[in-house]
Amino acid sequence: MSVYLDYNASAPIDNRVLDCIFDAYKNNIGNADSRTHNFGERARNVVEDARKQVASLLSVLPDEVFFTSGATESNNIAILGLKEYAIETGKMHIITTSIEHKAVLETVKALGKEGFEIDIVSPDLTGRIKTEDVISKVREDTLLVSVMHVNNETGIIQPVKEIGEMLDEKGVLFHIDATQSCGKLVNEIRELKYNMLSFSAHKLMGPQGIGALILKKKRYKLPPVKNIMYGGQQEHGIRPGTIPVALIVGCGKACELAEQEYKKNEETISQIKKAILEEINKSGIDYQINGNQEYCVDSTLNICFPGVSSEALMLSTKQYCGVSNGSACTSKSYSPSYVLVAMGISEEQIESSIRISWGPNTLVEEVKEGINLLLETAKQICG
Ligand code: PMP
Repeated sequence: MSVYLDYNASAPIDNRVLDCIFDAYKNNIGNADSRTHNFGERARNVVEDARKQVASLLSVLPDEVFFTSGATESNNIAILGLKEYAIETGKMHIITTSIEHKAVLETVKALGKEGFEIDIVSPDLTGRIKTEDVISKVREDTLLVSVMHVNNETGIIQPVKEIGEMLDEKGVLFHIDATQSCGKLVNEIRELKYNMLSFSAHKLMGPQGIGALILKKKRYKLPPVKNIMYGGQQEHGIRPGTIPVALIVGCGKACELAEQEYKKNEETISQIKKAILEEINKSGIDYQINGNQEYCVDSTLNICFPGVSSEALMLSTKQYCGVSNGSACTSKSYSPSYVLVAMGISEEQIESSIRISWGPNTLVEEVKEGINLLLETAKQICG
């Protein structure tokens, strides 16, 4: 038995999504941009159907959906794609947070090296940044604010609703990295005010390597985002390159399923969190949860077992339990999580912290078994 509890890194693909992808690979062999035959037209049609499925989940217009290779690329386009507009208007100030995914943080920092001024806002121990800390930094020349919806390491929901409403009044562009909330906080996302929004399909049980950037129109005009790569006119030139038809079909199907099933999924996910916490409490082990749980999604638990090295724990349990201690994108070598550091958590506590994340097809009984083995091992490690 081995239970996978690292859904925030990547969720397993839903079999129904996989079936659609197979079908698309077999039956849609054309290039969606070929104009000279029906193969192209058929591929184009299924891509447009998928675009509608994404649009419906997010409650946006289909022509506000631009397919990309995933959230990393979407974040890069949303931020770097504003360079020309920034130079034209003299708006060279960007605000972001210290707990963003590196695909935002590194991208913003790259602009910092090109003469942009960057303000980085940090949270406190709650793991949640404060709306006023962001808004008070807004200046005449602020180009962009980029804040994630849900943090990938802690599961803490950020106040993007309030920030979006306040920025809308000020006319500042707002980008939301919604990679960990898309398909989960379905109603919340629909109510957000933003100009650009990123997500990856594999976090909502779609395929890896596909996602979208949503560019929301204002008075019929898209935000002033330009392409950062050159080539074809695919995705209206925002993302040149042959369109991966089957992956897009998979992304669309994952969005359709999320829209149909999110209420049922919410229920399952919250039962799993309860079950995990019950097992931990029953075990009598000493623990501390990172981040204020009042703001935490039900699919993530970032937890510290004092005195238990997370590296040792993961190494000794990896045959039967897949958990992590940080973002997979930064885990090539161990260094303390920059997200937990930014929250002001001590290095000692960070070294003993792990992230457990799950999804709607996680089985309660399997989780309980995996968690109990993990807890047994943790007790042995701290002696
Ligand atoms: N943003 C967030 C919040 C994420 O969790 C991730 C994936 N860990 C990304 C962006 C990047 O997604 P991808 O690797 O699919 O491009």
